[in-house]
Amino acid sequence: MSDLTKLTLEAALAGLKAKEFSSVEITKAHIDACMEAADLNAFITTDFTNALKSAEKSDAKLAKGEGGALEGAPLGIKDLFCTENVKTTAGSKILGDFKPQYESTVTANMKRDGMVMLGKLNMDEFAMGSSNETSAFGPVVNPWRKGKGEDLVPGGSSGGSASAVAANMCLGATATDTGGSIRQPASFTGTVGVKPTYGRCSRWGVVAFASSLDQAGPITRTVKDSAIMLQSMAGYDPKDSTSINKPMPDLSAACGKSIKGMKIGIPKEYTMDGMPREIEDLWQQGIKWLESCGAEIVHVSLPHTKYALPAYYIVAPAEASSNLARYDGMRYGERVEGANLYDTYERTRAEGFGKEVRRRIMMGTYVLSAGYYDAYYLQAQKVRTKIADDFKRAWEKCDALLTPTCPSAAFAVGRKLNDPVTMYLNDIFTVTANLAGLPAMSVPAALDNNGLPLGLQIIGRALDEETVFAASSALESCANFTEKPNKWWK
Ligand code: GLN
Repeated sequence: MSDLTKLTLEAALAGLKAKEFSSVEITKAHIDACMEAADLNAFITTDFTNALKSAEKSDAKLAKGEGGALEGAPLGIKDLFCTENVKTTAGSKILGDFKPQYESTVTANMKRDGMVMLGKLNMDEFAMGSSNETSAFGPVVNPWRKGKGEDLVPGGSSGGSASAVAANMCLGATATDTGGSIRQPASFTGTVGVKPTYGRCSRWGVVAFASSLDQAGPITRTVKDSAIMLQSMAGYDPKDSTSINKPMPDLSAACGKSIKGMKIGIPKEYTMDGMPREIEDLWQQGIKWLESCGAEIVHVSLPHTKYALPAYYIVAPAEASSNLARYDGMRYGERVEGANLYDTYERTRAEGFGKEVRRRIMMGTYVLSAGYYDAYYLQAQKVRTKIADDFKRAWEKCDALLTPTCPSAAFAVGRKLNDPVTMYLNDIFTVTANLAGLPAMSVPAALDNNGLPLGLQIIGRALDEETVFAASSALESCANFTEKPNKWWK
């Protein structure tokens, strides 16, 4: 049998349905791939015994011609999603051995549809980071390398998800995106990543970072695979008050749909000092590709883009400082006993949280404190409205936007860790979609001069995932990105 880990999710589901192979077979092939790739550190927890049990159940269903949209497909879950009786860490020490008694809505939807869960994927602590180096479980390594060179980061915070998908450890993985954590790692690993419209995927059972920005989405190897996964993950959920009660368009049908006459906006502000020439060139190439498919290019301006990153790094830490107040040693996981109640809180939080999380909590409590609230937090909220208004004006002229996903390719492990501002610049082109709640996707488009993948981003109108998938799928066909990382691990 050919290597079942090299199939797309779409092909695997078709093969399972046609009984060309069983779910147990394809699950075993992925378990072997996960074990071989242990050095990439993509998983925090594996759950192979249960994966094989659910594969058997899927096989029984498939034998009867039954089963859901993901029936029998081995997938990975970012360790930010609560999974019943399976350890959930959010990449932090502070949750200890927390085993949720409930399932997040997103993973419950995927289980309803027959997914086989291989385990929980590594990530930056509480999803705060752009390199997967803030994880309490060690950095994840990118399967891509420059020549024979040093280890590169897979991006973050969904670094485990991106690495696992790029290295064929799973057919697809869930991820979350608060400021770029799906799209930036997708760009760094030559994979596809989608952040849907805010409210499409329920946040119920997803460990909270910044609630007004957090959104779940898939990382996969093709646009069609993302369509299949997102269709299963998304849906209205009365348990999340910000969940949207509107039907998701047929995303698979949107893939391959003609984009003739579609108006694609090119925002002139999406460029940055020091951005490699190759990324500018790739952006121009992307314009040509979409034009060749019949799209019309229009030039637009999003004048408040330069304030997006500062606004994000006020709003996100503010919400995080409030969300993370619950980790006090009383309710979950770690507890370091102190002389009195306050001392216990302090010791627990000082030991349980890593450096970046502590930095965010300090920033967040500072910008929310009396005396600074108006100067920072309120101001940032106003900027957020301006950014959303910029997009609204752009939608009068175009249907979707094309931009680079990130200002750089993957960088070496350790290189930016001690320079938070440089690290934060990774998110410059992705945070705007979170601040405005818009759907956005990163599509692998080319390799740079060092042989590392680069992505292009499509941003769409709220609830218009259909256009985002159609444009991304056109981009994917034109880019024809078939490169794979050399398999140096094992
Ligand atoms: N890199 C950004 C941050 O550190 C975004 C993270 C995310 O999207 N979860 O906040």
